Amino acid sequence: MQHRIIKQVPRMLFGAGALGRLNELLPAKNGAKDWYLYVVDEVHRTTGLLDRLDLKPEDKLYTISTAKEPTTVQVDELRDLVLKENENRPAAVISLGGGSTMDVGKATAVMLNNEGSSAQYQGWDLVPNPAVFKVGIPTLAGTGAEASRTAVLTGPEKKFGINSDHSMFDAIVLDPELSGTVPAEQRFYTAMDCYIHCVESLRGTMINEIAAAYASKALEMCQTVFLSKGEEDKLMVASYMGGLSIVNSEVGICHALSYGLSLILGYRHGIANCIAFNVLEEYYDEHVVEMREMMKREGVTLPTNVCAGLKPEELEAMVDMTLRMERPLTNALGENYKDILTKEKIRELYANM
Ligand code: NAD
Ligand code: ZN
Repeated sequence: MQHRIIKQVPRMLFGAGALGRLNELLPAKNGAKDWYLYVVDEVHRTTGLLDRLDLKPEDKLYTISTAKEPTTVQVDELRDLVLKENENRPAAVISLGGGSTMDVGKATAVMLNNEGSSAQYQGWDLVPNPAVFKVGIPTLAGTGAEASRTAVLTGPEKKFGINSDHSMFDAIVLDPELSGTVPAEQRFYTAMDCYIHCVESLRGTMINEIAAAYASKALEMCQTVFLSKGEEDKLMVASYMGGLSIVNSEVGICHALSYGLSLILGYRHGIANCIAFNVLEEYYDEHVVEMREMMKREGVTLPTNVCAGLKPEELEAMVDMTLRMERPLTNALGENYKDILTKEKIRELYANM
């Protein structure tokens, strides 16, 4: 099998306190008109992280709400606002937050240099122009958005990534201190996103030695954190390596189902993955059992019967969303996935959640 060309984030700072060295990663400002755009989860007004950013008078801060997962409309509006309020484009876009904020930052950096709506670029390699220089700083570990070549957005019809080399960060800061304020349940759900990425990657047909090396180490780190006792820096490295694994392989059935849960029921990515993974014992057996053990130890309980109140057309939209995830389903089940994961089977899985 021929592998994709691998692109990786070229520069990274790691370790407690790394945030304080952010300026070492930024491109120099040339002239008085140059400025940086900071895209920050508004939660950091209360966590204190905002105060730790070294904003200069010329720089601009846009805080964003992550009450809902990012949308194409949100990104288009932010891009339009930035262009309206500023004479020139920023020299760098710096995003500080979880997967949602990093995806908004990535997509905004892409859209500052590309015409039209971000919805046009949801797909594979559709972005013509390079993005503005962009830096990612995760404050919540698990999605791997810091390492990936996608910015996942909910558009008018679908939740789908802008999958492009231009979506990848030019630099990242992995500072484990930044996730100290994450609520315990959220920490668990987002960490499970990493755990599930790794299982889907390792069990998939698109696996290769590079992806397997990253995924197995990241999986082991998640197990250490939740089944023995590991420090926070393990989770941040696991998230990064889980992302690297997915760059070089693919997710699977759980992600395909979870996108339906997020699109129609509005469940956030981490919890949606856990709800879906919990009914996938026939595909991911001992790992589903292991996730349940981790949940028990963390005192996390999942909502049940989540599809009970759905109208038939809503359920069908979820089934269609799942089947749209061709690459993950091919990765998990092979080219003939539609014969195995029939519409009937998908309905049955949703009914069990
Ligand atoms: P998130 O960014 O949506 O944040 C979840 C919650 O945690 C929010 O309420 C946020 O305010 C809060 N939070 C974040 N950091 C905090 C901190 N330090 N202290 C206190 N609260 C904090 O959650 P997520 O799980 O990181 O990201 C989910 C999103 O990532 C989804 O939209 C999903 O589609 C996307 N995703 C992207 C990729 C990718 O490769 N681009 C991969 C997987 C998932
Ligand atoms: Zn994921």
